[in-house]
Amino acid sequence: MSFRDYAPAPESTAILNLRPHYGLYIDGQWTEGGGGSITSISPATEKSIAEISMADSSDIDRAVLAARKSYDTVWSRMSGAERGKYLYRIARLIQERAREFAVAETLDNGKPIRETRDIDIPLVAAWFFHYAGWADKLDYAGLGPNPSALGVAGQIIPWNFPLLMLAWKVAPALAAGNTVVLKPAETTPLTALMFADICQQAGLPAGVVNIVPGHGGVAGTALVEHAGVNKIAFTGSTAVGRNIARTLAGTETRVTLELGGKGANIVFDDAAVDEAVEGIIAGIFFNQGHVCCAGSRLLVQENIQDEVVEKLTRRLATLRLGDPLDKNTDIGAVNSKAQLARITAIAETGEAEGATRWTLDCEIPSKGFWFRPTIFTNVTTSNTVARDEIFGPVLSVLSFRTPDEAIIKANNTPYGLSAGIWTQNASRMLRVADSLRAGVVWANTFNQFDPTSPFGGYKESGYGREGGRHGLAAYLANGGAR
Ligand code: NAP
Ligand code: MG
Repeated sequence: MSFRDYAPAPESTAILNLRPHYGLYIDGQWTEGGGGSITSISPATEKSIAEISMADSSDIDRAVLAARKSYDTVWSRMSGAERGKYLYRIARLIQERAREFAVAETLDNGKPIRETRDIDIPLVAAWFFHYAGWADKLDYAGLGPNPSALGVAGQIIPWNFPLLMLAWKVAPALAAGNTVVLKPAETTPLTALMFADICQQAGLPAGVVNIVPGHGGVAGTALVEHAGVNKIAFTGSTAVGRNIARTLAGTETRVTLELGGKGANIVFDDAAVDEAVEGIIAGIFFNQGHVCCAGSRLLVQENIQDEVVEKLTRRLATLRLGDPLDKNTDIGAVNSKAQLARITAIAETGEAEGATRWTLDCEIPSKGFWFRPTIFTNVTTSNTVARDEIFGPVLSVLSFRTPDEAIIKANNTPYGLSAGIWTQNASRMLRVADSLRAGVVWANTFNQFDPTSPFGGYKESGYGREGGRHGLAAYLANGGAR
C-alpha cells in the first residue's frame, strides 16, 4: 500500500459532453473541412477523445470572408457597450462550465487538473471580464483619438495553454471591435471547439468568431497569407514566428509575435531561501515546463548555491507525477510524442556536456508521454541545456558572484521574455529588474498572470504586448506599436 492509494478519485470525465466528431466553426455554423481529419488523443493515456475535421486553404478563405462580412455588416456598427455585453456573457458562460472546461483541457493537453481548475480556466474567465469592461471605454485607453478596429484578426495559438491563449487573443480583439479567425494547435483543438459552442450559446452574431482547426503548414500558412486578414497574432515557436514575419514583411498586415524564452530566476544570498525554492520549482515544473516564460535557468549566488541545490533536489523528490485528472498530481503528461522526443534529445546533451543530472525517481505510466522532472547542476553558460529552450520540465543551475555578473548572465540569451529576482533588498531588486532585457520581471514570485498586466518579449521572444490596455493597442488601427 502506498500513499497514493489514499488519494482522492480522479476528476470525473462524466461531466463532459463531448461529441465524437467536431467540424469547423465558420459563420456560426458547423461545417466539414477539406483537409481530412485527425484524432485528438489524451497524451496521458493515448486514448482517442474525438475526431477533428481539418481546414484546408479554401476553408480558411470561407472563414476569412465570413469574418469580413460580419465585421462590415454587424460588428463594426455595434456600440462598444453592446460588444461588451457579449463578452460579459461569454465570461459568465465560461464560469458556469468551468469544471467541464478544466476536465476537457486536462484530458486533451495532459496538464494537471489542479492547474486547469485553479489557474487556466479561472484566468480565461478573468480575461473575458477584463476586456468586456474595455469595449465601451476605448476612448479612455490613452491610445489616441477615435481608436478604430483593424478588421479581421487571424490568430494562431499553441498547445501549452490552449483555452487561455485563445482568451488572450479573442477577448481583446473582440473588445476592440475586430472579428476573428482562430486556428488552434493540432494536438489541443478541443476547448477551442467547445468555445465555439459558448459563442453560439451567448448569441454572438455569426462570423464574429470562427474556429478552424488545421495543420500549421496548411491552415496556418493559408491564414497568414490571406490578403483579407488585417492582423496576425501568433504564439508559438521562434522558427515559425520568424517565417510569419518574413511572409508579412512589407504588407499592410499587422503582426504580433509571442515566441520562445529561456527565463532566468535570479536568487541573491539575502533571499528568503525556502520561498525562493518553491518559486523555482513552480517556475520550471508548472505545466511540465511547457511554458514560454518558464524559469528554466536558475542563477544562484555562489555562497548559497550548495544550500539552494540541496533544498531543490529534496523538493524535486516530493513531486508527484501521474494521472493528470488526479487532484494530487503535480506533473502531468508531456503534450505529444514529438515534444517528448525534443525534450529527451536536449536533456541528453546535459550529461554528455558534463553537467550533473538529478531526476525524480518515480514510476512512469505504461501508456502516454512522460518525462521525469530533471535538474542539471554544474552547468556552464556554454552548455546546450543553458542555451536552448527545452520547453519541458528541465532546470539548469548556474551561479554568479555579483549583481553585475547576474545581470550579464541573465541577459546572455537570444530570448527576452521573463525573469524572476529573489532578494529582500528593494534597491537591488529595482536596479537589477531595470537592467534585465525581459518583457516581464517577477519580484520574489514567478509565473503570476493577470489580465491587467502586459506580457510579451524582447529580442527573439517576439514583439507586441498582450494583456491590459497594451493588449488593446495591438488590435486598434491607431494603437501605436506595430
Ligand atoms: P509551432 O509549430 O510554432 O506551433 C504553434 C502554432 O503554429 C500551432 O497552431 C501550429 O499548428 C502553428 N503552425 C505551425 N507551422 C505553421 C506555419 N508554417 N504557419 C503558420 N502556423 C503554423 O510550435 P510547436 O511545434 O508546437 O512547438 C515547438 C517549439 O515551439 C516548442 O518546443 C517550444 O520551444 C516552442 N513553443 C513556444 C510556445 C510559446 O508559448 N511561446 C508555445 C508552443 C511552442 P500545428 O499545431 O498544426 O503545428
Ligand atoms: Mg490532444
